[in-house]
Amino acid sequence: MAGGPLLPRTIDHLDVADRRVLVRVDFNVPLDGETVTDDTRIRAALPTLRELLERGGKLVLCSHLGRPKGKGFEQAYSTLPAAARLAELLEVEVVFGHSVVGDDVTELSRELGPAGVMMIENLRFNAGEKDNDPEFARGLAALGDVYVDDAFGAMHRPDASIVGVAELLPGAVGRLVQREVEALGVLLSTENRHERAPFAAILGGAKVSDKIGVIEALTKRIDHLFVGGAMAYTFLAATGVPVGASRVEQDKLDLARQLLQKCQARGVKVHLPIDHVVADRFEEGATPEVVDAIPDGKMGLDIGPGTLRAWGGVLRTCRTIFWNGPMGVFEWDAFAGGTRGLAEALAASDAHTIVGGGDSAAALAKFGLADRVDHVSTGGGASLELLEHGDLPGLAALRKS
Ligand code: ADP
Ligand code: MG
Repeated sequence: MAGGPLLPRTIDHLDVADRRVLVRVDFNVPLDGETVTDDTRIRAALPTLRELLERGGKLVLCSHLGRPKGKGFEQAYSTLPAAARLAELLEVEVVFGHSVVGDDVTELSRELGPAGVMMIENLRFNAGEKDNDPEFARGLAALGDVYVDDAFGAMHRPDASIVGVAELLPGAVGRLVQREVEALGVLLSTENRHERAPFAAILGGAKVSDKIGVIEALTKRIDHLFVGGAMAYTFLAATGVPVGASRVEQDKLDLARQLLQKCQARGVKVHLPIDHVVADRFEEGATPEVVDAIPDGKMGLDIGPGTLRAWGGVLRTCRTIFWNGPMGVFEWDAFAGGTRGLAEALAASDAHTIVGGGDSAAALAKFGLADRVDHVSTGGGASLELLEHGDLPGLAALRKS
């Protein structure tokens, strides 16, 4: 897949020496007041930023952070703490712009010396970001001579800093985006498919409705579909299995039936849980109980040990495994066993293993297994949309740039 049709120009082919490089990063980090409580996303951009600096670029960084109203400055969503953390990690001064676009920040960008770094305020303080407003995009484009997109987690959004700017400046993808597209592209590629088969997708998490598109798209490529998490109960209910008080999306039962029929027609083997960890209420302190059939009044909060054993046997035969969505309420120890067991199965597997989804990635990290899979996507929504549509607005825009 490396260098395949999906991937736009990379920074290997962008001349950055003595130029202002407008870099779209994903510094959408959690804050406690003015402290960044998890800097994973900032660290993820460092390889690209260091490389651009080594090659003589001057960096103008932009990101969104949270969901401000789009009507100007809001203290709680300022990117200043992220810029401060970046300065510590890069060990350089980071000039802060205090506004998003306009003469002041444009002037600051022109004053940057060799290897200078600056960051502007939260893109979403300006409604033009989400609206992909052409004037706002021109304002952003005035901040750079060239553009680099390394914000994989935001590339499914047709925003001004993702799509609008890409059409105005010579652009390229950074190393983070490159790595994501190469890793996820393997799942989309039709070349040498037999070498990667059997291909299994394991889907879980909260809702069927969040994942319909990706399930549908994946059924064209996979050999095995495993469904766990809350989603499993909608599928089980759709096949007539009693699910007690488990979370079922009543309005998605028909859809679940149609998906199961599609799987059958396409020769995809579907695996639903055969035992469960249930409780009588949705609470951390609820008493867990392992059952094969869910009694009335009980709700399934995790897949059971028998399911794990059965699935483990099939997964050992697979050569490609994609996992998205926890198998149970892994945030509560009593209901984390299924997700942990699955994570361990992936860690022990010789297959090419790819994990996407914010909570699934968090679960892997919690179990200390993040290094034991081949790729953990930094973009939840973006990774699912890439698998669903085979492309992302941010990639398409850069291919035209
Ligand atoms: P991801 O972020 O990896 O895509 P989702 O956001 O779709 O995953 O789902 C994660 C959430 O699903 C977790 O908070 C987890 O507690 C919840 N969940 C998983 N299984 C169940 C279940 N059986 N009942 C209720 N919630 C569940
Ligand atoms: Mg999630």
